Amino acid sequence: MQQDSNNKNIEKNFKLMIISAIVLIVLFSYTIYKSSSNIQGSSYYFGIGFLFILLILSLVLRANQNKLRKYLENKKGIKPNINSFDMELQKTTQKTQEDLESNIKPVTSNITFKDVAGIKEIKEELEEIVDFLNNPIKYNKFGVKLPKGVLLVGAPGVGKTLIARAVAGEAQVPFFYQSGASFVHIYVGMGAKKVRELFTQAKLNAPSIVFIDEIDAVGKARSGKSNDERESTLNELLTQMDGFDGESGVIVIAATNKIEVLDDALLRAGRFDRRLYVGLPNIEDRKQILELYLKDKNSKIDIERLVNETAGFSSAALSTLVNEALLNMIKNNKKVLDYNDIEVAKNKLEFGKKQIKILDNEQKDILAIYQVSKAFISKSKISLLDESVSKLNSTYPSYSELCENIKRDLAGFVGLEVIKKEKFAINSEDLDRAYKSADIVVNRYKMANNIDELISNIKDELRIELSSNVAEINRLKEIMLKNEVITIEDL
Ligand code: ADP
Repeated sequence: MQQDSNNKNIEKNFKLMIISAIVLIVLFSYTIYKSSSNIQGSSYYFGIGFLFILLILSLVLRANQNKLRKYLENKKGIKPNINSFDMELQKTTQKTQEDLESNIKPVTSNITFKDVAGIKEIKEELEEIVDFLNNPIKYNKFGVKLPKGVLLVGAPGVGKTLIARAVAGEAQVPFFYQSGASFVHIYVGMGAKKVRELFTQAKLNAPSIVFIDEIDAVGKARSGKSNDERESTLNELLTQMDGFDGESGVIVIAATNKIEVLDDALLRAGRFDRRLYVGLPNIEDRKQILELYLKDKNSKIDIERLVNETAGFSSAALSTLVNEALLNMIKNNKKVLDYNDIEVAKNKLEFGKKQIKILDNEQKDILAIYQVSKAFISKSKISLLDESVSKLNSTYPSYSELCENIKRDLAGFVGLEVIKKEKFAINSEDLDRAYKSADIVVNRYKMANNIDELISNIKDELRIELSSNVAEINRLKEIMLKNEVITIEDL
């Protein structure tokens, strides 16, 4: 690429020389012709002769430009663009081109599904994509098109990048990693250029996987405030996603923690229309992850106990915990990992820079009551670490349906009030959602007069319903503490 740009610059310089010589010869000839009667001496003829020589020289140089370039490069180690401004310009273009090139090289992933512990359902969903990449004919024969884009939604450290790499590893296809932030440039058009380059490379290397981490950095909803660079990058991303079909063999996987801030256009059919929610690992997942990390290690750790003590840990946090414990073992010249090492590691994580939240029994109890109250009211499955319960979602929701959704968001708070006789600051997102929905009922559809009054009425209803079912809530709480999940059968 750099060579190409050198050649182009030489070519341009020669062309300019030839054109200037021709223009000057014409001008000179015209002047001589017009004022031939006044010309004394032969200086004009010398001038025109010189220009002719210049023209011939440029033609000769142009014909031999390749030899000349090689000569200059080999003998003197300098580039033919001698002009210092050109040099600067060339340096900048080279830099950005190198930038583009270095970032947009695929890697071969040696991670497979075996390296991803737990999250069975997510792996099953993605196996179809792996199969498609391995046997495209099987799908194309029936005209089946797979989603172009898969959006992995989940908190940091739950393994989104690892999963995407495992898909590439299983399918043995090139893996293009880009973080959303790397598309954000100061100069308008640079991000868009990078997106284009990424997709060009992905198509050239197809079948391949493009992974865009933290896509929200570029895919945030376009707001009133203009941000030309981000908008042009997002538009380019949308255009590129529309520009290839399911048969091209390029699958785009993106990851985000904040699906709610993404521009609607990204989530429309034909773009990221398949969404997979990757939650914090549940009991079973944590067991498998810890088993994976403790495999082949000399350890006296009771995995079941550790699993119970690590509710709320992300997969990455579990990996860090084991790593820190092993470091402590080595520091103390021990050969076998024991619970002491785990305690030291836990303290480090809880109070160290990373500050991983470790739930004690009392906190787990509060969280369990909160979550089972929501499960009881919504009659739907929920896990200890899930954030919200499912909602009614009709096209034309009635007043009662809208109120039912508010009820589901408030159930946890009222459940705690009823059982613990105390208010807790526990999940502000549920509360925000409840107030947002109440705002829609009151201000958008004018179905009620006052937001606070509506919320207060719904809380009263909840209080009556939950206080007459305290025994049931407590029964569900015990199941939740044991299994970290309440299923429909439990309800
Ligand atoms: P995210 O992309 O969601 O922020 P990563 O995929 O970067 O998370 O995960 C960080 C690290 O945590 C991984 O490199 C891996 O060591 C560990 N990890 C995450 N999920 C798993 C899992 N399911 N099984 C094993 N290790 C995991």
